[in-house]
Amino acid sequence: MNKLVEFDPMIDSGSARYATHEVRNQARAADGFNAFADDVVLAAAVRREVPWASGRCSALGALAGDADVQDCARLANEHVPVLRTHDRFGNRIDWVEFHPAWHRLMTLAYRHEVHSLAWTATASQPHYARAVLSYLWNQVEQGTGCPTGMAYAAHAGFARTPALAPWAAKVCASEYEFSRAEVAQKRSVVVGYAMTEKQGGSDLRQTQTTACRSHRGDYHGVAVDWYALTGHKWFCSVPVADGFFTLAKVGAGVTCFFVPRTLEDGSYNRFFIQRLKDKCGNRSNASSEIEYAGTLALRVGDEGHGLREILSHAHLTRLDFAVGSAGLMRQALTLAVSHASTRNGFGAALSAQPMMANVLADMAIEVEAATLLALRVAKATDHLAGNAFERAFARVATPIAKYFNCSRAPALAYEALQCHGGNGFVEESPIARLYREAPLNSVWEGTANMMCMDVRRALLKDRTTLAALVEAVVDVRGVDTRYDRFVSRATRLAERACADEFFARAATEALARMIQGAELIRHAPQGVADGFIASRLADADGGTALLGSLPTSKHDADLIVERARVSR
Ligand SMILES: Cc1cc2nc3c(=O)[nH]c(=O)nc-3n(C[C@H](O)[C@H](O)[C@H](O)COP(=O)(O)OP(=O)(O)OC[C@H]3O[C@@H](n4cnc5c(N)ncnc54)[C@H](O)[C@@H]3O)c2cc1C
Repeated sequence: MNKLVEFDPMIDSGSARYATHEVRNQARAADGFNAFADDVVLAAAVRREVPWASGRCSALGALAGDADVQDCARLANEHVPVLRTHDRFGNRIDWVEFHPAWHRLMTLAYRHEVHSLAWTATASQPHYARAVLSYLWNQVEQGTGCPTGMAYAAHAGFARTPALAPWAAKVCASEYEFSRAEVAQKRSVVVGYAMTEKQGGSDLRQTQTTACRSHRGDYHGVAVDWYALTGHKWFCSVPVADGFFTLAKVGAGVTCFFVPRTLEDGSYNRFFIQRLKDKCGNRSNASSEIEYAGTLALRVGDEGHGLREILSHAHLTRLDFAVGSAGLMRQALTLAVSHASTRNGFGAALSAQPMMANVLADMAIEVEAATLLALRVAKATDHLAGNAFERAFARVATPIAKYFNCSRAPALAYEALQCHGGNGFVEESPIARLYREAPLNSVWEGTANMMCMDVRRALLKDRTTLAALVEAVVDVRGVDTRYDRFVSRATRLAERACADEFFARAATEALARMIQGAELIRHAPQGVADGFIASRLADADGGTALLGSLPTSKHDADLIVERARVSR
């Protein structure tokens, strides 16, 4: 018979009962840093292009490293929005409740003008400065990055439409207000886009929602044509936004409309939220299915020209996602470097182990390349109006950057999670949230294939576009023969893609790498540019699909990681 275990009151009482071990070798949390001032790549970019913005960038960069703000991001994603279709008396209200952390984040984003600086700043290159803010905000919390990006793009549509002048003003305001008041009564507004329907979001020509002309009426002192919409939208993020750009068919023509949720007389428009999506990432943000049934909307642009109108805003959202994915990658790198530097394995910090040094350095190079690519497109966006060369460059480089940065983000997030080991796969760790978030930017506002198709369309429509891309890197030709050979290869691939859509992805990737290479040669230390060229552009000695394959030395890798460190 087994002997009974004897009860020892000294061991089994109080806290001593659980004191089996000492907690050792857990990595430190990455906080207490400034994601702008401590990031040498970003700070140098701002010094070069928009020195006037460094104060505000630094203020926002401090938030990314602030433990309280990081906790807000966690809370907003753990306590997901809840749909309230009806009030307790049975009246439809179609509203969503958020955790206070969501509103705190929105308040901070608006206060720091993440959504609006491009339209409010009078200094040079405001889109560039605003892109840096968005890059930083995407290291704070990505769910709120959706409404800030949409507000940024929406201003372009408001500014062209006289009846929407109150919206153009309120979308630039920096005092966030969560209420259902009419636009004239609000301090600021939040704006959404509702295009995607059940049958497919890429081919918007198949839009099923219909619009019937209702009446001619006044809207904030301007005579407009009102239409009644009938139909559905299968994805509609931020359904509590104050108004939405949307698409509906008038006869056979897809037309752009604007739907205010609250009408000028204070009554609520007919806007029915059917359910919220249970999403794999971006959980702080509400994304919904909605139904239009006699919903009042005012026409934006001419009947039948809706796709053109929406695409004119899409340039800005696509830029914002290229920037946002670069920011997300930067956050993943920060977390990985911090974790690997403050956890030991086999007698040394993980970051000091040779293979880990290669992984971290390779990630740092990828992040710097993504950052400079996105900012180069932001710079071109600042010169759309007055510079034909920059306009041609932006036309094609925007979908290139959207495709490539957004597609690289999941690979980077995966590798950063890998650096954390098992701790990274647990939801308490911010890298787990980032990993689930990472694919989203490549899906919405034009999927990967759609972006490559758009690159091809731009190249085919105007043959000077490819010339503009090659011209944009001409100043760095002759510096490195491997780079020069790559430019010829990228050009050949672009021609091949023009002849056959089957090759559009290969061409878009090569063009992205070509722009990144030029930016790194111009702005990065030689070790970084050389590591990039050797591993990504050279034929022989690099270019594998996975990170951690730099053909440089451990010494060089250590220098690259040290330069990328923001959290110490
Ligand atoms: C979290 C979330 C929030 C969203 N919020 C909004 C929102 O607020 N407003 C809104 O309007 N939409 C929103 N969307 C929808 C999003 O914009 C669409 O999912 C996207 O445009 C793709 O449309 P789809 O899902 O119908 O895919 P599909 O159009 O069915 O495409 C599926 C796949 O096929 C590929 N494909 C399609 N046609 C071709 C072709 N000719 N050649 C090669 N490949 C092709 C696509 O690239 C994609 O990879 C949201 C989506 C998500 C996930």
